[in-house]
Amino acid sequence: MGPRSDAQRVTVIGAGVIGLSTAVELARDGHEVTVVADVDTMDTVSAVSAALWFPYRAERSPAVVELLRSSFARFAALSEVSDSGVEMRAGTVVERSATPDRSWTAFVPDAVEADPRLLPPGASSGVRATLPFIVIPAYLPWLRARASALGVVFERRSVQHLAELAGRADTVVIAGGIRGGELLGGDPDVVPVRGQVVRLANPGLTDWVTDTDEPDRLTYVFPRRDDIVVGGTSIDGSWDRAIDVDTERAILERAAALVPAIAGQPVLGRAVGLRPARPTIRLERVTGHELPVIAAYGHGGAGVTLSWGTAERVLALLRDDAT
Ligand SMILES: Cc1cc2nc3c(=O)[nH]c(=O)nc-3n(C[C@H](O)[C@H](O)[C@H](O)COP(=O)(O)OP(=O)(O)OC[C@H]3O[C@@H](n4cnc5c(N)ncnc54)[C@H](O)[C@@H]3O)c2cc1C
Repeated sequence: MGPRSDAQRVTVIGAGVIGLSTAVELARDGHEVTVVADVDTMDTVSAVSAALWFPYRAERSPAVVELLRSSFARFAALSEVSDSGVEMRAGTVVERSATPDRSWTAFVPDAVEADPRLLPPGASSGVRATLPFIVIPAYLPWLRARASALGVVFERRSVQHLAELAGRADTVVIAGGIRGGELLGGDPDVVPVRGQVVRLANPGLTDWVTDTDEPDRLTYVFPRRDDIVVGGTSIDGSWDRAIDVDTERAILERAAALVPAIAGQPVLGRAVGLRPARPTIRLERVTGHELPVIAAYGHGGAGVTLSWGTAERVLALLRDDAT
């Protein structure tokens, strides 16, 4: 889309999945977008993400249901774009609760009850479904290239105060993940939820399995293309970014019990990411600052899952201001 008469100069702070998706969405609508980030995309929490479209640790609210719905549709469309890194993949959600939350299945045409004989010991039930599966090492570079092709400008630096952007931007979008509240005077509601993963060689698996109802024995096996992301942990309030060897051993034991074919596969890499958790995602206009601000942070364990819905909501908030 070309320039528009009411185009705004928008600075997006953050080059993770939320910042990049938002930048693409605003640029597609004809706005002049600059992304400012002090951490390169492939070093963000987003790059650690596994990444399945699934509302893990996402707030349960009508607003989030809408973000889920719209993101599902956008990812399903992107799975038709050959180099996007997005695929529609079948897999199993293992449930260990007597009252599992299946609200997400409303958007998933082929979701069915899993065969109990294929579930691990202790599981109460499960769902088989084909979901968007986002191969992050392909997807994030693709998203960044898409933004550049739409004219988005990238700057690598830290923003210390919003006042620095006065005169350069008409609106600022804060997509700063776990640091999203810092430029707004602090946000005590944001807490890290530490996630540790290990990457194994892929012996040819395609189906994913996720078993996340019990946080202290969270387990998932996500075969990408050449590797498999195996997780995980979910430790509230931990800022520890170091790989813990004992934790990795326990993850691999649990995962091999879930998917025996991964036992003994060579380790290709390891990572820790701090999920930007918040009781509710902050997705709103924020007043009282040097220039108009839209906050878009606090997506916890579902930032990729909710990314396109978030980007669409930011655009709607921007348009409200323009009218
Ligand atoms: C192990 C693990 C597995 C996960 N699996 C999944 C999954 O399967 N599906 C899913 O949907 N989600 C998953 N997640 C969650 C997902 O990764 C996060 O919700 C998401 O990455 C958050 O994205 P973000 O863009 O908000 O933040 P980030 O990716 O952290 O990006 C923040 C950006 O803000 C910039 N920034 C912040 N403050 C400033 C400043 N003052 N100046 C300049 N730049 C600034 C940083 O440089 C960075 O570029 C997982 C997370 C982990 C840790």
